[in-house]
Amino acid sequence: MAKVIIRRAGYDYPALRDHFFEMVESLAGDRIGPGGRVLIKPNLLGPAVPDKAMVTHPMVVKAAVEYVLHKGARPQVSDSPAMGSWEKVLKESGISQALQGLDVLCTPFKKSVSVDVGEPFHRIEIAEDALCADVVLNLPKLKTHSQMLLTLGVKNLFGCIVGLRKPEWHFRTGVDREMFAYLLACICRKVNPTVTVLDGILAMEGQGPGKGGVARHLGRLLAGTGAAAVDVAVCRILGLEEDRLLTNRAAKKLGLLREEVELDGDFRPVNDFKLPGITPLVFGPACLHKTMRKHLVQRPVPASNLCKACGDCRRYCPAGAIQQKSKTLIFDYDKCIRCYCCIEVCPYGALRAQEPLLGRVFTEIRNRLS
Ligand code: SF4
Ligand code: SF4
Repeated sequence: MAKVIIRRAGYDYPALRDHFFEMVESLAGDRIGPGGRVLIKPNLLGPAVPDKAMVTHPMVVKAAVEYVLHKGARPQVSDSPAMGSWEKVLKESGISQALQGLDVLCTPFKKSVSVDVGEPFHRIEIAEDALCADVVLNLPKLKTHSQMLLTLGVKNLFGCIVGLRKPEWHFRTGVDREMFAYLLACICRKVNPTVTVLDGILAMEGQGPGKGGVARHLGRLLAGTGAAAVDVAVCRILGLEEDRLLTNRAAKKLGLLREEVELDGDFRPVNDFKLPGITPLVFGPACLHKTMRKHLVQRPVPASNLCKACGDCRRYCPAGAIQQKSKTLIFDYDKCIRCYCCIEVCPYGALRAQEPLLGRVFTEIRNRLS
């Protein structure tokens, strides 16, 4: 059995710390010892205050650091944010302040090493610090994701791909979500986190994972030795069939989910959690894929009143599908691979995934028939 511990929790620090210590000690206490290097990998997508639910909460990161210090090991907090400088992310998220006075190394991933993650990707550059640590403590945030439905334990480790290599891999896997999910599961297998503690206290629903999402209090902290097992537990809590999350399917194919997932603790389902609308990116006869994608599948659309013309989306877009003329953004929806990275990195929440008119008509018809 793959055990996943669930606790009702808030960000009130002494209680949260107790939960964190108890959960990690029972799952992996014997694997964290004096002198060991422990890499703590939160979700630090970009600069955002904790109330936005975009990044792992500073109190969860603090609990992880204090636990590692308590065990006599050496903690390092690292990630590779998609937007904003490392200093800005730490400051705005409240992590700098939360970790003040603690003996911890806080540094972005810099150096990558090329490792073989197996078929069909083979060699991938992954952050050296993640691969060389004695222990990896994976600290994902429970968030929706316009491309992958949810970003949880497995997806969080994509942050171990440094800098612009991330959009490059989005481009290589293109419009194939299953292929991207398989890539994520391959990376997870390689990084092999010792324990995953998911911050589902203040989660994100709607059009996540960036500023377009909406914070929602769920009050759950989940921990397990398998990142994919934690993801399965989240699906059960949200009332989702576990195979709807493509990373779960990929994890099964890779043998990361061999055992039955056993939930330990306060399991109460969450009702009406708002997931992003997701249309398959490729369907129907192959010769029509491009046309159908263009006219039926959600596309990134800017809200001109929110866009500050900062150009971040254009710079990050792996397909080169965004042009900027003065303050106007022009999207080439033929080139666009619908990875929704632009929505994720927009610092002002100015982009939305929106179905084209024809897509809305089809969805309406499908809903009426089902
Ligand atoms: S949509 Fe967002 S990221 Fe793109 S230019 Fe406007 S403000 Fe910047
Ligand atoms: S326009 Fe946005 S969704 Fe399309 S490829 Fe570029 S980043 Fe991805």
